[in-house]
Amino acid sequence: MARVKHESRWYPLESEESVLDGLLRQGVAVPNACRAGACQSCLMRALSGEIPEAARVGLKDTLRTQGYFLACVCKPVAGTELEVAGADALRVPARIDSLTLLSASVLRVRLSTDAPFDYRAGQYVSLLRADGLARSYSLASLPREGLLELHVRLIPGGAMSGWLAREARVGDTVAVQGPAGSCFYVPGHPEQPLLLAGTGTGLAPLHGIVRDALESGHTGPIWLFHGARTPEGLYLMDALRELAARHSGFHYRPCVLTGGSRDVAEGALDVLIRAECPRPVGFRAWLCGDSGMVLSLRKKLFLSGLSLKDLHADAFLPSAPRVEPVGAR
Ligand SMILES: Cc1cc2nc3c(=O)[nH]c(=O)nc-3n(C[C@H](O)[C@H](O)[C@H](O)COP(=O)(O)OP(=O)(O)OC[C@H]3O[C@@H](n4cnc5c(N)ncnc54)[C@H](O)[C@@H]3O)c2cc1C
Repeated sequence: MARVKHESRWYPLESEESVLDGLLRQGVAVPNACRAGACQSCLMRALSGEIPEAARVGLKDTLRTQGYFLACVCKPVAGTELEVAGADALRVPARIDSLTLLSASVLRVRLSTDAPFDYRAGQYVSLLRADGLARSYSLASLPREGLLELHVRLIPGGAMSGWLAREARVGDTVAVQGPAGSCFYVPGHPEQPLLLAGTGTGLAPLHGIVRDALESGHTGPIWLFHGARTPEGLYLMDALRELAARHSGFHYRPCVLTGGSRDVAEGALDVLIRAECPRPVGFRAWLCGDSGMVLSLRKKLFLSGLSLKDLHADAFLPSAPRVEPVGAR
C-alpha cells in the first residue's frame, strides 16, 4: 500500500488508486476537473518521495524540477511514501472585469490580475472559484491587451459555466493557475501556411493565435475553420470577417451541420477543410474544442501529409464525475 502525507496527516491509497482519488475519497479538498491528465487543475507538489513519470507528462520543465505532478494520474507503487502540498504558489488572484454574452450559449469572461500574468495567446488556464471549483479555459486574449479573456460555453447544469452565467458578478475574486499547453504561435517560417480548426468555444484559443500570427507579421496563408451544429453556435463572425477584410492572406470559413447559408458552409468540418486545403503538406496546424473532433481531425491531417511536429491540439475534455468522500456514499 502507498501512503500520502498532506498537511501533517497520512492518507493510505488503495491499490491502483490515484493520489487525487485517494485524497478526495478521504475528504481532502483538491481542485480537479478532467481527471485524465489533460486540464492540469489538480497540480500538486511532491515535497518528498518518488513520483511516477506518467504523472509528469506534459508539464513544463520548470514545474517538473520543482516537484509538481498531476495528482489525477499519479499512482505510486506499493510501499511509496509521498509528502505532498497544493499548488497555491502557482495561483494568481484575479478579478472579474466583465461578463458579456457573445451568443446565446457563449459567455465572454474578462479577468484582470494584480500581478503580471505571463502567457502565450492560445494557452489555457485553470479558473478557480473561491470554494476550489476548478475548470480549464483557453485564453482568447493577447498578452499585450493586459487582461485575460475566456470564452465559456454555457452548459445546462454546468457548475462553473452556470455560476459564471447566473451568480458571478463584475468585481468578484477568482484565481487563475497556469498557463499550460502548447497551442500557441511561435514566430519563424513566416511564409508557412497555417491551418486552424475548432468547434464551439474551440474558437477562443484560435482567435488569439490568429491575431498573434498576423501581428507577428506572418505572410503565408492562414485558414481558420470554425464549426458548429447550427448557425446559433457560431460567434465572433463580424470580427473575423473584418479581420479577413484587412488581411488578404487570412481566410475565415465558418461551417455548420445544418442551416448553412450563402456565407456559412453546410457540412462536416473535415470535409470543408479537405475541400479548401486538400494537401496540407508543410502546413502548421492548431485544433481545439470537442475532444472527438480534435482526435479525428488530427489523425486525418496527419494521414494527408501534415507532420506531427507541426500539429498542436487542445481537446476540451469535460470534467469527470465527482468522487464522494468515504461516508458520503
Ligand atoms: C485544456 C482544456 C481547455 C478548455 N477550454 C475551454 C474553453 O476555452 N471554453 C470552454 O467553454 N470550455 C473549455 N474547456 C472545458 C471546460 O474546462 C469545462 O469542462 C466546461 O466548461 C464545463 O464545465 P462546467 O463546470 O460548466 O460543467 P460541468 O459541471 O463540468 O459539467 C456538467 C455536465 O455537463 C457535461 N459536460 C461538460 N462539458 C461538456 C461538453 N463539452 N459536452 C457535453 N457535455 C458536457 C459533464 O460531463 C456533466 O455531466 C476546456 C477543457 C480543457 C481540458
